[in-house]
Amino acid sequence: MNQANLSRLCTVSRRTFMVAAAGAAAGCATAPKGACRAAAGAPIALPPLPYGQDALAPQISAQTLSFHYGKHHQGYVNTLNKLLPDSPFAGQSLEAVVCATAGSAEHTAIFNNAAQVWNHTFYWKSLAPAGSGGAPSAELAAAINAAFGSLDACKKALSDAALTQFGSGWAWLVAKQGAVSVVKTPNAETPFTQKGTTPLLTIDVWEHAYYLDWQNRRADYVKAVLDKLMNWSFASANYAAAQNEKSC
Ligand code: MN
Repeated sequence: MNQANLSRLCTVSRRTFMVAAAGAAAGCATAPKGACRAAAGAPIALPPLPYGQDALAPQISAQTLSFHYGKHHQGYVNTLNKLLPDSPFAGQSLEAVVCATAGSAEHTAIFNNAAQVWNHTFYWKSLAPAGSGGAPSAELAAAINAAFGSLDACKKALSDAALTQFGSGWAWLVAKQGAVSVVKTPNAETPFTQKGTTPLLTIDVWEHAYYLDWQNRRADYVKAVLDKLMNWSFASANYAAAQNEKSC
């Protein structure tokens, strides 16, 4: 995806949002700063991991999860909560912040941290302890077969996306108008900023996701995740809900 597309696709959300933000700012102009911050709502929270830190071993070790969740994900939450109170986006939901800042040169730091908070929460749900991730629902399996021919071919497409993402980023299975496809995004970018696109599953391919366990062997990490840890039950639930677009 490119920045122009993101900007165009999120224009409506941003315009709607900016009207609301302008109203809030006007009210804040005459109020003590502390009162405005209190009225801006609760900070963005770090959601709990859906399993124990040792639950994904040996494919993803407890040590990796302790850093990835406890330091990296927590770090994005902390930075975002430092940036939001003095921005036009204070008090907004995480999704609204991501939509409002996607493609914005002015709010790159807020977008990067907000999208990384969302992406990581989605990534933890995309994984499940080995043997517990289930299988695609009949509806999702039919869409996968229509798009790729087989579940193995879908996994191959996800692997190809993960391995060809140059540098940091994400590989995704997404749904759009009932059809599924594989996309990759660089850095913090996330497919739900594209109108009508619903993420179903993701694989984090930033080096911090695998370096402690697999060092430079991204291919081995991706194979281990695809073979053992994918949460197809989560993907199936997302596919079933895709009519209620989770996009900007
Ligand atoms: Mn990560």
